[in-house]
Amino acid sequence: MDPLSKPISRRDVLRGAAAGGFALGGVMAFGADLAAAKVHAQRLKIAGARDVPSICPYCAVGCGTLISVKKDEATGRDRIINIEGNPDSPISEGNLCPKGAASLQLAVNPLRSTKVKYRAPGATEWEEKPLDWAMERIAQLVKETRDRTFTETYATKDKDGNPVQKQVNHTLAIGSLGGATMDNEWNYVQLKLMRALGVVFLENQARI
Ligand code: SF4
Repeated sequence: MDPLSKPISRRDVLRGAAAGGFALGGVMAFGADLAAAKVHAQRLKIAGARDVPSICPYCAVGCGTLISVKKDEATGRDRIINIEGNPDSPISEGNLCPKGAASLQLAVNPLRSTKVKYRAPGATEWEEKPLDWAMERIAQLVKETRDRTFTETYATKDKDGNPVQKQVNHTLAIGSLGGATMDNEWNYVQLKLMRALGVVFLENQARI
């Protein structure tokens, strides 16, 4: 397509303005239109960045996002500097819900905990443990608990009162509570794993 015949979007205009470097004058040109000034300030932040279209990972609505990426001078690697709604998405037309609008923090978050707090049975103090230690301990406890409590069949009665065995293949001793920042793919795999283990108590923080 001839680039000159491509329709110019509001995003193109603002990106061009930001790249052109007019800052204060540009903002003042918006006059009392605070919303437009905010949009302009946002574009200054992403000036010179490369936009990568993507999909919000959080739910089945599948809103379109634009991930702005810039080369980090120190490491030479691409760095995500902003995520916002993609106006070209036929699903969401540039809109994101509050959770999707904060998805930058899923990818870039210096405050994220990388260690776990552990309080031993009967202890009153929390200890800091590495993540690998916690994963190993959880895996061992799940295995032990499942082996001890797995039920293949249970005895009940049919409608005529005759004793019957029902096949259940489950454990009622383990539950899975997912966090709200688990994405679609993680939730899918988590559900598969739990069902395979016979876990029936499945819930997610996003529904609570
Ligand atoms: S922005 Fe909100 S509604 Fe859209 S896909 Fe993400 S979580 Fe779902």
